[in-house]
Amino acid sequence: MPFGPRVVRGIVTSLSETSSVTQTRDIAGVISTVPLVSPRRIDLAAWIADYYTAPVFSALALMLPPGFNSKRQPGHKLQKSLMLAVGAEELPSILDELKKARAFRQLKILEVLQAAGGKMETGLALKKAGCGRQVITALLSRRLISEIGEEVFRDPVARTDHPLEFPLQFTDGQQSAWGPIRDSIWADGSRPASSIFLLHGVTGSGKTEIYLQALAETVKVGKKGICLVPEISLTPQVIDRFFSRFPGRVAVLHSALTAGELHDEWRRIARGDFDIVVGPRSAVFAPQPNLGLIIVDEEHEWAYKQSEKSPRYHAREVAVQLARLTNSVLIMGSATPDVETYYRATRSEFQLIELPERVTPLGLSPLPEVDIIDMRRELKSGNRGIFSRALRSAMAESLDRGEQIILFINRRGKATFIECRDCGYVMNCRRCSGALTYHYNEKRLICHRCRRSYPLPRRCPQCSGREIKYFGIGTESVEAECRKLFPKAGVIRFDSDAITDASTFQTVVDSFRSRHIDILVGTQMLTKGLDFPGVSLVGIVSADTNLNLPDFRSGERTFQLLCQVEGRAGRGIYSGRAIVQTYNPDYYAVKFAARHDYAGFYNSEISYRREFGYPPFSSMARLVFSHSNESKCFAVAERRVVLISQRIAEKGLNDIKIVGPAPAYTMKLRGKYQVQIILLGRELHSLLKDFDLPEGWILDVDPVGML
Ligand code: ADP
Ligand code: ZN
Repeated sequence: MPFGPRVVRGIVTSLSETSSVTQTRDIAGVISTVPLVSPRRIDLAAWIADYYTAPVFSALALMLPPGFNSKRQPGHKLQKSLMLAVGAEELPSILDELKKARAFRQLKILEVLQAAGGKMETGLALKKAGCGRQVITALLSRRLISEIGEEVFRDPVARTDHPLEFPLQFTDGQQSAWGPIRDSIWADGSRPASSIFLLHGVTGSGKTEIYLQALAETVKVGKKGICLVPEISLTPQVIDRFFSRFPGRVAVLHSALTAGELHDEWRRIARGDFDIVVGPRSAVFAPQPNLGLIIVDEEHEWAYKQSEKSPRYHAREVAVQLARLTNSVLIMGSATPDVETYYRATRSEFQLIELPERVTPLGLSPLPEVDIIDMRRELKSGNRGIFSRALRSAMAESLDRGEQIILFINRRGKATFIECRDCGYVMNCRRCSGALTYHYNEKRLICHRCRRSYPLPRRCPQCSGREIKYFGIGTESVEAECRKLFPKAGVIRFDSDAITDASTFQTVVDSFRSRHIDILVGTQMLTKGLDFPGVSLVGIVSADTNLNLPDFRSGERTFQLLCQVEGRAGRGIYSGRAIVQTYNPDYYAVKFAARHDYAGFYNSEISYRREFGYPPFSSMARLVFSHSNESKCFAVAERRVVLISQRIAEKGLNDIKIVGPAPAYTMKLRGKYQVQIILLGRELHSLLKDFDLPEGWILDVDPVGML
């Protein structure tokens, strides 16, 4: 439609007889005549726009077919097919006639079609018959065949060719978890309070098996499902499980698909072609008709939050709203539930189901035994190496027995900061405020924030000294240490530097599973959805990478990560063991993770949150302003604080606290200074109603990270 001098795209959500403006103009054209978004999803968009203070259009755009918003929309692909237009009884006499008339090429086409069961793609039929288009014209004019144009879909995944698998007989634990879920599915989710479940089960307790059977049950009652998984765990192993259970009936949406593939998959979903849609956070917006079940696997994962652009929605929250709007059942699963989700379950907003025991091929097996190693002691006794004595000897024993090892370090690269011994100068990125990381393979220093790389300095840029020292450890230095200590062992790195695409991912996973490699050194990339039965030892090289960060969730993050990594040991035939190296052995998150004690962790964490009024005891929003001029940046932020305080006073919302303005943790990013303001309070959403911010500001409601 025309809008000033421009033509813009618009979405019609409802019609009105009158106009709010005096001068109306005509619509320039119609993009789609069929409704693209269902009424329930229009309601969902309204909720998102309101809750996350985003423009309604941007919220609605989430639910449109991928590519709708771009100028060049991926086209539909049409395929022409030929069909026999005569019945089987008539065919022999027609073939005879053609033979007599010596119309051999027409005859050939009909024979090809007959052999193919009456229908074939035009191009293929011509190729098989070895003739040109004019033959078709002749046959068409004699009405012996017809030609139809059919929309074809690019098929991004081989949906077939998976060995069919059948539901497993539930263990007792699974059986008692299953009862209420099955009842809800049959009750059509019509009792909303009881149809949102938090399934808390340790890794390997059989949650996925419950998801699969819940999906099958949903299909039985004539409905469809959506299953959200974090993008990082959308591995072929996980997808195969879905394909094997529901052959040909699963749609997969993920970022590796081309725009065209995504578009086609989306449209087929809207047509109702699939019982199940599997995908990352954006799949919550898939136009799955007749929705009956939503699953959010690993609900605690931060990847469910869209932090980088507006609307800054959390897919778990959106799923809760969608379940309420559509009367669907919702299952949120995790080994380490988000503290806020668990709190809501204890307040009966969600129904809590616990699955405390592990299922393994040999029956129930205990979780791995975990030892905490105090690295301060190692240092005192003269060990300056990356590995403690305990970890080194455990590795030697595992290798001797022919078992496999996973080493976890949540940092890429070789050294995490580079300092001049003479003057103490630390090499920083010139555009960001962070220290540079040394990458051995590239022989360069790389900024992990903006990815700019720098040559290795031969002299200190400040004092020209030649003594440059490299501190800290990353995946590369751990890999090098393994090669030095165990020259015979096969070692491979598993981080985003080494694994750049899906096929290297699969190659590395396959060679580790088939035990051609002994030691896998990785970042949190290896914590997700991977099952390696040959692993008996997990070494956490440093538990401290998330500690001491200025974020109230750093304890929770540490606990979740440690539990996930420890859970990689002993998933198969060996009983597992994990060794955790730390300079903070008494830190509560480290201690509770070592005991696999979620309840203990939760109790500590929730009382700390209560004491300081952090979520779930308040809502939080983060405002960030960035500008290349530091003092301008602060001046703008300070003025904003004054304005917000006035508004709080006007509205009488006295429980809202303003923290800041303060430099963001990454004070400078890509050449711009960043200043943040945190708002905290129970009544925050009353403040955020019609809250407008000038250009240059970012507003993140319920931020998952404060850095
Ligand atoms: P989670 O999702 O909690 O990590 P999974 O559902 O992946 O757990 O189950 C872990 C392992 O146990 C898988 O290999 C799975 O096939 C197996 N498993 C799950 N449930 C059963 C069952 N009832 N009987 C036998 N094996 C099971
Ligand atoms: Zn940088």
